[in-house]
Parts: sequence; structure tokens; C-alpha cells
Amino acid sequence: MHADFPNLNVIKHPLMQHKLTFLRREETSTAGFRRLVKEISQMLAYEVTRDLPTENIRIFTPMAEVESPVISGKKQCIVSIMRAGNGMLDGMLELLPAARVGHIGLYRAPETLEPVEYYFKVPDDIADRLVIVVDPMLATGNSAVAALNRLKEYGVTSLKFVCLLAAPEGVRNLLDHHPDVSITTAALDKKLNEHGYIVPGLGDAGDRIFGTR
Ligand code: URA
Repeated sequence: MHADFPNLNVIKHPLMQHKLTFLRREETSTAGFRRLVKEISQMLAYEVTRDLPTENIRIFTPMAEVESPVISGKKQCIVSIMRAGNGMLDGMLELLPAARVGHIGLYRAPETLEPVEYYFKVPDDIADRLVIVVDPMLATGNSAVAALNRLKEYGVTSLKFVCLLAAPEGVRNLLDHHPDVSITTAALDKKLNEHGYIVPGLGDAGDRIFGTR
């Protein structure tokens, strides 16, 4: 965990840092960007599930009968904050293929940077699940806070947040509003600029994933 933020887990693995460097570069193509988001999301899925409980089941290998661990406890649901969160789904689902998927559509009002909801669809049994919320950029944190508020309204009690990059302002905002929610990220960047973009960051994650600019 991070010295300044008890809820923050920055993954310093060399492979993660290497891939993140190429993700940040402005000359990285749309295809390359997507591939890197998928690969980094897979690694983040590996890290965010590190503390899942396990239980032993009895199996037969070709050689012997043995007690062997499988994941137990709550089933998972991945919730994407649209639209950029959708870019992380493939990688997350690669490691969690049975997870359900929810979508929350939020855009940032350009003047206020406050989130405005335009879509909400989650599984009926979401309150019984471990919910992993994904959004590539934790910038102001306002969208993340709004999404987590909505999920708690639905009775969700087990929540984790996963992003590619975080700004200190966003981590602080999320920690202040949702101290029970851990954040797993590939990097904690320097700051936000006056438009609410992360610096050095990688630009607009949605535009780079979907090639809309
Ligand atoms: N959203 C983005 O896509 N990029 C940022 O830097 C901040 C928010």
C-alpha cells in the first residue's frame, strides 16, 4: 500500500511499467493502444484478485488424490464506467471469464467536471457479488465517487476500483468518500491540469481506445 494513501495499491511490476510507457506515448497507434490496455488490464485483474478467499476441494490428478484450492466466497461482477471503462473489460474478463458485467454511463460536464449519468445497467444479484469497478483514468475522482454511490444504493458492500492511471486529487476524493474501497492502478501520476486531465497521463483514454480523435 502507498505511504500517503492507505487505500492505494500501485503495481510496480517491470512488465506493467514497460507497457505503461508505450501506452503513454503519443505516437502509439489505436491498435497498439487497445492491445496495451488489454494486457495491462489482465495484469491489474491478477493483482486486484490477490486477496480473494480460497477453499480446498478434493481432486484426482493422474498420480494421486489431493486437496487443492479454488476461489470461494462471493462471485464477481465487473462494472465499467463508460465509455473508456469498456476498453478494460476484455483484459479483465480474460482472467475472470465467469464474472458478470455491469455498465454505468457517466460523462463529465465540461464546465464543472461533475459527472452526469446517462446509463445504468447491472445484474439483479449485484448486491451479493464482489464488484470491481473499472475506469482507465482516476482524474478528479468525481465519476468514480458517483458510480460507487450508485452501487452502494443497490446494496453492494464489497467494492474495488481498478484504473490504469490515478491522479493524487482523484485518489484523495475517492478515499474521502469511500474509504472502504481499495484502488489498484499501474501508476500514480503527478497532478491534474486545469481541464481535469492527468499529467503526464496519456491524454483522453476513450478517444485513444476508440480512435475518435
Ligand atoms: N479522462 C481521460 O481520458 N484522461 C484524463 O487525463 C483524465 C480523464
